[in-house]
Amino acid sequence: MKKEIVVSGIRSTGSLHLGNYLGAMRNYARMQDDFTCFFFVADYHSLTTHPDPKDLRASVYRVIAENIASGLDPEKVTLYAQSDVPETTELYLLLNTLAYKGELEKVPTFKDKVRSQPDNVNAALLTYPVLMAADILIHKATQVPVGKDQEQHLEMARNFAHRFNSRYNETIFPEPYAFNFGEALIKVPGLDGSAKMSKSENGAGTIYLTDEDEVIRKKIMKAKTDSSPTEAHTPLPESIANLFQLLQLVSGAEAVAPYQTAWNETTIRFGDLKKELAEAMVQFVKPIREKALDLQQSPEAIQQILRTGAEKARASAAQTLEEARRAVGIRYY
Ligand code: ATP
Ligand code: MG
Repeated sequence: MKKEIVVSGIRSTGSLHLGNYLGAMRNYARMQDDFTCFFFVADYHSLTTHPDPKDLRASVYRVIAENIASGLDPEKVTLYAQSDVPETTELYLLLNTLAYKGELEKVPTFKDKVRSQPDNVNAALLTYPVLMAADILIHKATQVPVGKDQEQHLEMARNFAHRFNSRYNETIFPEPYAFNFGEALIKVPGLDGSAKMSKSENGAGTIYLTDEDEVIRKKIMKAKTDSSPTEAHTPLPESIANLFQLLQLVSGAEAVAPYQTAWNETTIRFGDLKKELAEAMVQFVKPIREKALDLQQSPEAIQQILRTGAEKARASAAQTLEEARRAVGIRYY
């Protein structure tokens, strides 16, 4: 039976963190045997925040190394840099003719960026969901392992696919869906009360896969907590719910149960909770950090992975682009 096609990308905007791992990368590794997988470093997407050109190469290598350290096997999947597949940008242009300013302006991540970088509201920020749709549709993917923050972009990708097929009266693109093995999509909250851990924002609230043991311990011990409950069965405030969620994600539901009981009985000790969480995080991050650092010692090996990945990704992309061009009518000889 033909395997389903999977695409997902990560921006080269800095060191990856537990949110990237638990929301997306963990599933990459779990999917690599049963699906035809394309995973890429979204270097074009990182340009919207104007990174220093000098930093790009190391950022791209780091994303590759951290993915492999998290269990991805470059022999099993196609691992590539987005900018190595120019077919994607051509499809992006075709899809842009079907994307409307009004719908793009309403996207919450766009509105957030308008607030956070008012001096740099560039057109690429506005059309980010169109490029993301092109990344996915160029391989005709149907499953997209991503975190909850990407859910709405996926809906837009489905709309663009559908619109293209109807406009040109031909079913070229299947509709892609966010994937998490049938479970709800994950959003790993920041430790500082921010909505999510992030590569490019709120460093103190984010556990990076590069963080040393002591840094992890410090960040967890400083995590925001509300005051202890004075009445039995008080509903969990967000800060405590976040810590419970993090413990559940790294150690499983059994680890959280005693703290939930202690909360209900007003005997919870936040220090104990944080200590357990910190040690679980340290054990979790350490092997990934060490392996990723090790891999970055061999840039030639990373270059070879990128070269092979680019070739495989382009072969797949070229086929889809040819179909799309023909449907649009831009084939003259
Ligand atoms: P940036 O701040 O540069 O946008 P980011 O941390 O949001 O970085 P992305 O490269 O935008 O990371 O996203 C890569 C993948 O990680 C996506 O699938 C996204 O849904 C997922 N992801 C990012 N942050 C979280 C989080 N806090 N919880 C769960 N998944 C996340
Ligand atoms: Mg992001």
